[in-house]
Amino acid sequence: MITFSVKTKKQTELIDITGEVRSAIKKSGLKDGLVCVFVPHTTAAVTINENADPSVQSDILNELNKVIPLHDNYTHSEGNSAGHIKSTLTGCSQLLIVENGQLVLGTWQGIYFCEFDGPRSRQVHIKTVP
Ligand code: ZN
Repeated sequence: MITFSVKTKKQTELIDITGEVRSAIKKSGLKDGLVCVFVPHTTAAVTINENADPSVQSDILNELNKVIPLHDNYTHSEGNSAGHIKSTLTGCSQLLIVENGQLVLGTWQGIYFCEFDGPRSRQVHIKTVP
């Protein structure tokens, strides 16, 4: 398993980690197989979406923030229920294909770390499977 850190700067934020995932695949030496990208946090997630227009990322966050407001009479005493709910909806892992040593992604796809209770120092685990 390969682990890297992500330092988030905002309360909610999407951070492109495609380059870090590609580096981890290269480091692992995997030529053909699968790569699991796993976020070991309960108020963060990982998703795949458009990497061309940054307004897609802000639209995703704005709409998630509307559907799951920061404060809404939640009972969880830590005060970060919105982050927990967004994490569950988005998901804490992605399974991707590696072919000829290269990550298989669509032209407009990037892998995004999703911060839902930042700013914090976070981790991402990468496991390759031949
Ligand atoms: Zn909590």
